Amino acid sequence: MKFCPMCKSDLAEGKVDSRKRLCCTNTECDFVFWDNPTPVVAALVEHENRIIMARNRAWPAGIYSVITGFLEKGETPESGVIREVAEELGLTGLSVDLIGVYAFEQMNQIIIAYHVKTEGNIVLGEELVEIKKVEKNRLKGWSFGTGLAVTDWVKKHPLK
Ligand SMILES: [Zn+2]
Repeated sequence: MKFCPMCKSDLAEGKVDSRKRLCCTNTECDFVFWDNPTPVVAALVEHENRIIMARNRAWPAGIYSVITGFLEKGETPESGVIREVAEELGLTGLSVDLIGVYAFEQMNQIIIAYHVKTEGNIVLGEELVEIKKVEKNRLKGWSFGTGLAVTDWVKKHPLK
């Protein structure tokens, strides 16, 4: 962000409440770029007793993750995650249980992650190219973003 979206003047670093912020340089304008994180919902999708991991169209072969998406205006996270699962996998959400809420600083996102049990037949939406079905006892998380939620879910559901 270089220019003020209100008056198009330059932005410059300033201090607001003792934190560095980009502020509008026009003294008539009081715009501050707060750079607040964007909420993202994530679904660890359970279908027929397995976990569905998906590869996004934009990702290289072999990279799979959980289902994610942005909320629509006025939507609750629970209804947003059910909608994303329906749009991307064609599945109906039966239950939605919060796994946790995670700060993803590199992407400036707050990830709200749920375990979503589903039914129906899988039909891939436009964003996905392929899925893989993972046995619950073979599921592993990773150390950033939604991977932290996968790790936490695996810890809470020890399956032998
Ligand atoms: Zn301005």
